[in-house]
Formats: sequence, C-alpha cells, structure tokens
Amino acid sequence: MRLSDQEFNRLSLLKVLRKSEPVARIDLARLTGLTGGTITAITADLVNRGIVIEEKVASNAPGRPRINLRINPASKYVIGATAISDGQVMTELVNLRGDSLAVSTSSLRKVTKIKDLAHQFVHALKCALSEWSVNREDIFRIGVGIPGVVDNRTGWVEQIISFEPEPCDFGGIVSRGLEIPCLVDNNINLLARAEHWYGLGAQTADFTLINVDLGIGAAFYRSGQLVSGSHGIASEFGHAKVVPDVGRPCYCGALGCLQAYCSIHSILQQSCRVLGRDAPSYETMNATFDALMDEHARGVIDIWSVLQQASHYLGIAVANHINTHDPAEIIIVGPSVAQMDKLRSAFFKALEDNTFPALRRRTKLHFRLSDKGLYAKGAAAMVLERLYAA
Ligand SMILES: [Zn+2]
Repeated sequence: MRLSDQEFNRLSLLKVLRKSEPVARIDLARLTGLTGGTITAITADLVNRGIVIEEKVASNAPGRPRINLRINPASKYVIGATAISDGQVMTELVNLRGDSLAVSTSSLRKVTKIKDLAHQFVHALKCALSEWSVNREDIFRIGVGIPGVVDNRTGWVEQIISFEPEPCDFGGIVSRGLEIPCLVDNNINLLARAEHWYGLGAQTADFTLINVDLGIGAAFYRSGQLVSGSHGIASEFGHAKVVPDVGRPCYCGALGCLQAYCSIHSILQQSCRVLGRDAPSYETMNATFDALMDEHARGVIDIWSVLQQASHYLGIAVANHINTHDPAEIIIVGPSVAQMDKLRSAFFKALEDNTFPALRRRTKLHFRLSDKGLYAKGAAAMVLERLYAA
C-alpha cells in the first residue's frame, strides 16, 4: 500500500521526532527537508490530537521563548503479537514512542485450522491485557504477525505450512474478539519493520532483509516505506530458482527453489539423509537444528557439504536480487551456525562470481543472528507506522 504525499510527510516527521526529540519546529524542517509551512500544519494537527506535546524552554534570552516538540508517549498504546515457530504467542505493549512497556508469552495448543489459531490469539491477547491492566480504549490497534502467506491489505491469512489449506479472516476474528482493530502481516515484513524502527535498518531508508529460518523470506524497504506486492502478499524470495528445471523438488511444486537448499527445513532434511537419521517433526525442527550444529561443531558428525551448498546457493540468490533490484544494503538474518567463517567464504565466492561488478561494489552487506523477540516489536511498529501516517 503506497502512502499519499501527506501521509508520507506525517510519517517522516514523526519518525524524525521520535529519533531526535525534543526538537524545535525549525530544526524539524532541517532534519526532514519539509518546508516550514508543511511542518507548521502537520505539527498543529498532531498537537491538537494529543500525539505531540509542546514544551517551553526556559531561557533569559530576549524575544519569543523557544518551544520544543516531543511525542506524547502515553496518548495511545499499541500491541504487537506474533506466533513464533516453537509454538508460542509473544505479545508486547508499546507506547507511542515505540518504547516497550510489557512483554508476555503463552503457549499455543496444537491446532490444524488457521481459524483455531486466530481464536488462540484472541485468548492470549485477552490474558495479556488483563495482566498489563491497560484499558482497551487506550489501544489504537493490534498488530499481528503470522509465519505464513498473508494479504496485509485485508488481514486474511492465505496459508501456513503445517495447517489445513483454508484461508481465514484472521484480522477479523482478532478484531471482533477483542473489539480493537487489528492489522496482520507476515513475520518477515515484521522483522524488516523491527529493523527499520529499532535496528540496523534505522540507518537507511533503502534495504532488503533476508531471513533464513525454517523457510526463507525477504522484505524490502524503499524510501523509508515497506514495499508490499500488488496483491498485499510479499514476494516469495525463497522460491527464486537457483537450480532451475533440474534442482531439488520444493514443497511449492517447482524444482530448484532456494528454499529447497538453504532453509533450515531443507538443511535438516538433507543432513538427516546424509546421516541416515529420521527427519524431525515440524515442531522440533529448530531444536534439532541447534543440536545438529552442536554435533557438527564438536566433530561428531560432518554435514559440511550440505551447509556449503546452502551458502553457495544463498550467494547466488542474493547476487540475483542485487542484479535485479540494486538495494542500498542487505541484512541477512539467520541462526547461529558452526563454521560460520568457512560458510561466509562459500557465500561470498558465489556472490562475487554472480553479481554485476558495479552493483556489488556499492551494496553493503550485514549479518545478524535471529532474535525471536523482534517479531512482536515489528508487529507493534506496523501499527505505529499506520498511526504516524494517519
Ligand atoms: Zn518453491
């Protein structure tokens, strides 16, 4: 969803204010590049709505007193909630500045229908709200993150692996259950939002985040805005072809998808085949992967060939992305892996061999370890983006 110029200006101004407060109007004009007239109009509206407060600065200097602006953190609250892959719902309450006020975690019952998962979210959120003693009227919106295919315009969840393939009005169920409006997006977009608001991505308006987890996904920020596809569904980076026509079969039905080589799910499948072990169940994949990495690091097993192949194909996929999109920076988020230095050299070899030289020289790359706590933060940031722009 593209913002109008007016919405984009308001979002930019509030993001700068959040980072730099307390700030005078004249400094906001310098920091945002907006005209004085635009700053005056936007801030007057925000002060009227109680979102921004004015502070007189004590001074003995002659003339009009200097007035600084701050975000009023307690004027509204937002909630982020997300399902993470080890069967838990994480919820986080944040104020209007995005400061975390409370975090709550609860376990999910094993269900197979997406609508049953939605009802479990309602229950988890009700428990969190009573634990936090916060009034529902003070909550602007709830942001929900789902590790699946989501239409973020409507809040419908189209597909989650390991659930029955029946689309569900997830946002509607949560909104009606709590009587608080709800936004829904996929977890990768939320991770990118968390980076933009709280992490490395805060330094740049243009970056791509690639997340290596049970699946592989990517999200894109351009000019300070998350880019969503035309159908409200993010791109499927994990299904970019790295070995077209003759590669490994992917669950999507195609051959040679990146996902089939480089996701934790596929690394586990291939490692178990090499080691002659049974593949783990979906629920135990993260724990089995950690145990496997530990065995590999201690020299008990050797799955170097599987890991090296995963790094090589990730390098090719990132090269293709740079060649087609020219991002300013790429942030690769993934688990802790044994022999990381060796794997990075396999990754960089494939990257250097396949990226157009002028683009490779200009694109910065960063690596980050996965942090499950960032998903709920990103869900809250999604709501703050909506509130700041509105
Ligand atoms: Zn695929």
